[in-house]
Amino acid sequence: MQDTFKHKGMRNQLAGVVASKGIANEKVLNAIREVPRHLFLDSGFEAHAYQDKAFPIGADQTISQPYTVAFQTELLNMGPNAKILEIGTGSGYQTAVLLHLKAKVYTIERQQELFKKTKLFFSKMGYRPKKVIFGDGYKGYQEAAPFDGIIVTAGAPIVPKPLLAQLKVGGRLVIPVGVESQIMTLFIRKSDKEFEKKEFGDFRFVPLLEDKN
Ligand code: SAH
Repeated sequence: MQDTFKHKGMRNQLAGVVASKGIANEKVLNAIREVPRHLFLDSGFEAHAYQDKAFPIGADQTISQPYTVAFQTELLNMGPNAKILEIGTGSGYQTAVLLHLKAKVYTIERQQELFKKTKLFFSKMGYRPKKVIFGDGYKGYQEAAPFDGIIVTAGAPIVPKPLLAQLKVGGRLVIPVGVESQIMTLFIRKSDKEFEKKEFGDFRFVPLLEDKN
């Protein structure tokens, strides 16, 4: 598959839709305009790529809705060269948006099949995350901690303690919390022991699963 002017036109429209829903950050909107979302879906589903909808990517997983990706990315509020941990690599679309914004990205996926597929896709496409990790996101990634930002792209029944512990002071954790549906939640680390918590609207994600290995 290729990226064409037609795709670019559809992405411009999509960025317009995302902006009309309240996303104001120009850099984030630009990432939506630039990252070729149709290439993150299996061929045949291309027609769905530029609707503002989540879409199944196999193995019971989904590529997040563009608005949700933009919303979470905006909440991360990244400075230049931010070091970011993503939990739930999935299709890699959110990763690519973060890379487009020049973040250094560590990303974790627990489904081995998806991990392998997306890792290969990154190298084919020339996307260069710092590391694609096969493992359990509940534990975070101590080896590269602390992070400027951590983004969880699956619905978390609880807030995993290691994720809070792996934030820098001033760092931000963006996590949808809940079982049936999720409240988008932002934690900002104020000091070693203090966190500020802010809640945003309701969202719906596939579940963050406990590792059974
Ligand atoms: N960021 C992805 C969203 C994928 S959906 C995208 O843009 O496409 C959420 C992903 O989280 C799924 O791929 C799922 O397998 C993964 N996941 C669920 N529980 C996890 C865990 N405990 N650790 C790491 N990944 C997990």
